[in-house]
Amino acid sequence: MTVPFVDLHTQYLTIKENIDNAIKQVISESAFIRGRFVDVFENEFSEAMGIKHCVSCANGTDALYIVMKGLDLQSSDEVITTAHSWISTSETITQAGGRVIFCDTDPDTFTIDPLKIEEKITKKTVGIIPVHLYGQSADMDPIIAIAKKHNLWIIEDCSQAHLAEYKGKKVGTMGNAGTFSFYPGKNLGAMGDAGSIITNDNKLAEFCQLFARHGGKGNHIIEGINSRMDGLQAAILSAKLPHLKSWTLARAKHAQYYSELLSQNKNIILPKVSNWNSHVYHLFVIKAINRDNLQKYLSSVGIATIVNYPKALPFYPAYNYLNHSIDDFPNAFDNQKKILSIPMYPELTLESIEYISININKFYNC
Ligand SMILES: *Cc1c(COP(=O)(O)O)cnc(C)c1O
Repeated sequence: MTVPFVDLHTQYLTIKENIDNAIKQVISESAFIRGRFVDVFENEFSEAMGIKHCVSCANGTDALYIVMKGLDLQSSDEVITTAHSWISTSETITQAGGRVIFCDTDPDTFTIDPLKIEEKITKKTVGIIPVHLYGQSADMDPIIAIAKKHNLWIIEDCSQAHLAEYKGKKVGTMGNAGTFSFYPGKNLGAMGDAGSIITNDNKLAEFCQLFARHGGKGNHIIEGINSRMDGLQAAILSAKLPHLKSWTLARAKHAQYYSELLSQNKNIILPKVSNWNSHVYHLFVIKAINRDNLQKYLSSVGIATIVNYPKALPFYPAYNYLNHSIDDFPNAFDNQKKILSIPMYPELTLESIEYISININKFYNC
């Protein structure tokens, strides 16, 4: 048996007619850039999120950059973000002209540790970017309290957490803005690159819209960039959005089944979910003793796994200039040695989950 890490083609086949029709329609109207399909998706997504504005853009990385430009980031401004994420979260801080200040993570949930944020705040700090990593919300209440106290903005990086909730609130609706990626492998994925910004702030939405589209059409009010969602991606996303809830439920069911089959195995730690969170399991990440050999063994029996991510961000060469040491981020460092993402996607079969779990247990002789 072989189990891929994700299976985008199987998902396509389940809604082939909808997707094919969506693509045909865009082609028949030549609505390739902007146009009604993009407007429709923006409206549908903001409605699904229960928020006033959705501004689409080219990808989730641009979404972060555009919002930071909208929040008027100045050079030497400091932005605090998590030590454990995909590099988009931190590289865009630098791109937008700011300085990256990393903060360690909670050992169990992999999200930014609110208890360690305040010690990072200086006179230059302007904002915080929590990441709802792997599909679970960061602990937002203390983060919001710190932001209020120090007059900081919050951008929620929701690229791995479409529809995730914190105390009944959707991620992306608690900060000044939320940013999403619709990269094909994300929980809501296009068939190419796409992203969006959501916010209740009228002015911020207006700026993002202008900035992402050359500062305005016909009348360039500011200099902007070119970051547009194309019509094909928008129509594909509109075809997929109605299924997102049931896909999310399927992920949660798979997580439950993994947990049942693996709960007796003392060599691994299953994902911990804070009781106020609904986790959407973009990734199912276990912590494993002897991780590298487990990964090799699983590969030898046809099971694809990935380490998301092999290093915490401060330990990549790109951040050598910050001169950090392991002791600065002990939790993120400890996690980078143990984490392993095992297959998780809505179309994963029960047989596959059993096969994966049996093999994990077999590796440890239990
Ligand atoms: C995927 C991702 C992004 C960037 O999205 P792209 O669409 O690939 O640019 C940003 N942050 C996180 C946490 C992500 O997982």
